[in-house]
Amino acid sequence: MKTIALIAHDKKKDEMLEFVGHHLEELKHFQLVATHTTGTLINDKYHLNVDTKMSGPLGGDQQIGALVATEQVHYVIFLRDPLTSQPHEPDINALLRLCDVHNIPLATNRRSAHILIKYAAANM
Ligand code: PGA
Repeated sequence: MKTIALIAHDKKKDEMLEFVGHHLEELKHFQLVATHTTGTLINDKYHLNVDTKMSGPLGGDQQIGALVATEQVHYVIFLRDPLTSQPHEPDINALLRLCDVHNIPLATNRRSAHILIKYAAANM
C-alpha cells in the first residue's frame, strides 16, 4: 500500500479537513502519515488511522522528510501558508527539496492536491 503524507500549516488546517472530507473514498486506499496537529485533527474528525509524527515546528517536517528520503512516502500534500512566515522555514524547504531529490509528487495547494489524489487513486 502506498503512503501519502499530509501536512497543513495552521491557517490551512480547515482547508485540509475539508479536502480530506471530500476525498475520503480515495484516501482509504492509502497509508497516511501526518505532522502531529494535522494528523490528530484528521483522526478526530474522520477516524482514518493517520500515523502522526511530531508537530512541524518541533521536527515533524524533518521526520516526514526522512520518510521521503527513504522512499517510504510516495506522495506529499503540504498545504502551506504562503502569507505567514514560519519559524521552521528551513525544515519546510528541506522537505520540499527532498521531494524534488526523490521525485516525489508534491502538492502545496488545494487544487494541485485534488489532481494529485485523483492521479494517486488511479495508479494504486
Ligand atoms: P502541525 O505541523 O500539523 O503539527 O501543526 C504542521 C506545521 O505547522 O508545519
